[in-house]
Amino acid sequence: MNDKNISHIHLLDALEKSQICPLCDLTNASIQKYINDMLYESVNDPGLREKLAKNKGFCGLHGNLILKHGDALGIAMLHIDQIQILLDHLDSVGRFYSKITKYDHTGWTEHAGCIICELMADVEKRHIEVFINLIDDNVMRNYLETFSGFCARHFFRVFEKLNNPEHKKYLLNLHVGKYKSLLADLKEFCRKNDYRFRNEPSGKEADSWQKAIYVISGKTF
Ligand SMILES: [Zn+2]
Ligand SMILES: [Zn+2]
Repeated sequence: MNDKNISHIHLLDALEKSQICPLCDLTNASIQKYINDMLYESVNDPGLREKLAKNKGFCGLHGNLILKHGDALGIAMLHIDQIQILLDHLDSVGRFYSKITKYDHTGWTEHAGCIICELMADVEKRHIEVFINLIDDNVMRNYLETFSGFCARHFFRVFEKLNNPEHKKYLLNLHVGKYKSLLADLKEFCRKNDYRFRNEPSGKEADSWQKAIYVISGKTF
């Protein structure tokens, strides 16, 4: 089986099984795998250490995600460089701050080059391309009728990449329907929280508050 077919199968599988946006799910799975491989196999890789040195480590979101993996030694080894680089920078700032020299601290304040953010963008781009290639596929159309819908961010990313107006209309109507149904569930959830209706059994609205967060904010991990 070639890479293209494998990508199709991964996407269809995610569309069938994901309880949330399948593009969030697929991206998260790739990130988790990358972090695992990095901590267990690549901490001594000079290429990786060079990139991290250049970009001043990971952004806040991904630094905290890496913490959750709990591989203390791998994290410590990667951060020996980071803390040393920070101290070297502070040393220069401390010696010359009263002079005209302007220092660039944006590596720490912005973390614009976080390698996991870059991986995320790349993975998303590839899955969106696969989705667009399959948009007229009957099997995928069947899954789309019942899948949870994309989060707002992934919906707009896909929508803006579509060229055919029919495809745009199809995807838009599909998501308006799904988001309206979620809105009705949220209202029902709030109604049942009223003491007068608390004895009513809960239904599909029970987890609508979580789904709403995932639609608006995406699921990051
Ligand atoms: Zn998403
Ligand atoms: Zn990041």
